[in-house]
Amino acid sequence: MHETSIVNSIMKTLEMEFEEEKLNKMSAIYLKVGKLSNIEPRLLHNAFTAKHYCGTRFHKVKLHIESTEIKIKCEKCNHITQIEN
Ligand SMILES: [Zn+2]
Repeated sequence: MHETSIVNSIMKTLEMEFEEEKLNKMSAIYLKVGKLSNIEPRLLHNAFTAKHYCGTRFHKVKLHIESTEIKIKCEKCNHITQIEN
């Protein structure tokens, strides 16, 4: 599943970027997901919950996902428009 591999890759990235001590204290992950990224926040959340981090240092970690808007800029007048789809 697409979302499961994203969750795995997020955790792998965190393990590479942070020291043991910091990983053990981690309580939340704040993620920004662009609307064009083809990621469904709800499914990503489900995949994270389904991973069952019981008994691991991640079992208290909460995942917060924020969807970021799509903005387009006109090359002629620099006007910025926010679009939904
Ligand atoms: Zn324009």
